[in-house]
Amino acid sequence: MSDKSFLDWPFLEPRHKTLALELEQWCEQNIADFGHPDDIDQACRDLVARLAAGGWLNYSAPEADQNGQITLDVRALCLIRETLARYNGLADFAFAMQGLGSGSISLFGSPEVKDHYLPRVRNGQNIAAFALSELEAGSDVASIATTAVLDGDDYVVNGNKTWISNGGIADHYVLFARTGEAPGAKGLSAFVVDADAAGIEITERIEVIAPHPLATLNFSNVRIPKSQILGSPGEGFKVAMATLDIFRSTVGAAAMGFARRAMDETLHRANTRELFGAPLFNMQATQTKIADMAVDIDASALLIYRAAWAKDNGQDRVTREAAMAKLYATESAQKTIDQAVQLHGGMGVKTGSIVESLYREVRALRIYEGASEVQKTIIANQANQLFRARS
Ligand SMILES: Cc1cc2nc3c(=O)[nH]c(=O)nc-3n(C[C@H](O)[C@H](O)[C@H](O)COP(=O)(O)OP(=O)(O)OC[C@H]3O[C@@H](n4cnc5c(N)ncnc54)[C@H](O)[C@@H]3O)c2cc1C
Repeated sequence: MSDKSFLDWPFLEPRHKTLALELEQWCEQNIADFGHPDDIDQACRDLVARLAAGGWLNYSAPEADQNGQITLDVRALCLIRETLARYNGLADFAFAMQGLGSGSISLFGSPEVKDHYLPRVRNGQNIAAFALSELEAGSDVASIATTAVLDGDDYVVNGNKTWISNGGIADHYVLFARTGEAPGAKGLSAFVVDADAAGIEITERIEVIAPHPLATLNFSNVRIPKSQILGSPGEGFKVAMATLDIFRSTVGAAAMGFARRAMDETLHRANTRELFGAPLFNMQATQTKIADMAVDIDASALLIYRAAWAKDNGQDRVTREAAMAKLYATESAQKTIDQAVQLHGGMGVKTGSIVESLYREVRALRIYEGASEVQKTIIANQANQLFRARS
């Protein structure tokens, strides 16, 4: 059983503790033995169906309240991601994408668009995807080249997107394209488009070190009704950043889930592995590693739940807090897992061992949704802005 002491921290409410304990039980019953099937597409579909049946996708695409307001519970999203990541990286991926691929709809969709897509995401009928990156526009989102040109009641989209998670199995894409209201970031718009729209083609399936569905897509004269726009024309960059403001903290949470699992595996190994007549744990060199791992996990948790708490408590943008949470949690999780591999000796690099798979799973989190260097740029600029405001 992983450390649960953080559930009593003041950032979380009693309902979060209940959620975490119920999810733990659900994971034991539903995904603890899921493993790493060869057919990744089918495995993802299966996991989305299980998550929907368990009710967990209600947090990815929540129902509107009486005033028609949709509120994403960021602390719940973080708790779910860290718990799923502890059990199975692919389950975390399947959950994460239902949120990332619908968050912009929850935040910026028209009532009709929300009513159409969100129930489908919630019940697992639609597998969701977020299509922002291009070959020449990864970190530099403002240089997106895919175009969307208004023609009557439709936008006509041409261009390519790459690194699109769930590409190939998605039922819809939240898509970002250049509509040209202004140069750079101010000339982008966001849309939602069905994956079976005429002119969308999967041109490449990309394999990565921790396998999940990932693809390059070509858009050739794809017609998207203008009613499918998210936000206003020219607001695409804002839509993307507001969505990432929410989901970046959850990337940190997933990394922390991987780190917690690595910690548990390491403590088990250190207590049971006898070296030179005593448990591996008894060596001070082991203890200093474990101490570093423990401090990094708690520091990550503090940053993650601070960012999530701030968002849940009405802070409009949490760009600085979310960047800090993602940066620290992903970088330190990589270090924690590396130490775990080291303390497992040869078993740590054996294909299929838990720490070996964690070592692969955590790597991309330091790159996607803004590489660590991008997070540092954000944090430095925010620090400077706050300094200037104080001066
Ligand atoms: C597994 C995986 C899944 C992904 N899923 C999606 C998805 O679902 N949807 C989507 O739209 N995209 C997705 N991406 C794309 C991801 O967001 C981009 O890979 C990421 O933004 C980096 O862009 P890039 O690969 O073009 O690298 P580049 O932009 O070329 O950057 C390369 C490196 O340059 C450095 N760097 C970048 N900017 C700065 C800076 N300002 N200062 C200093 N150094 C810097 C960083 O080290 C960075 O890693 C995914 C990527 C991966 C690997």
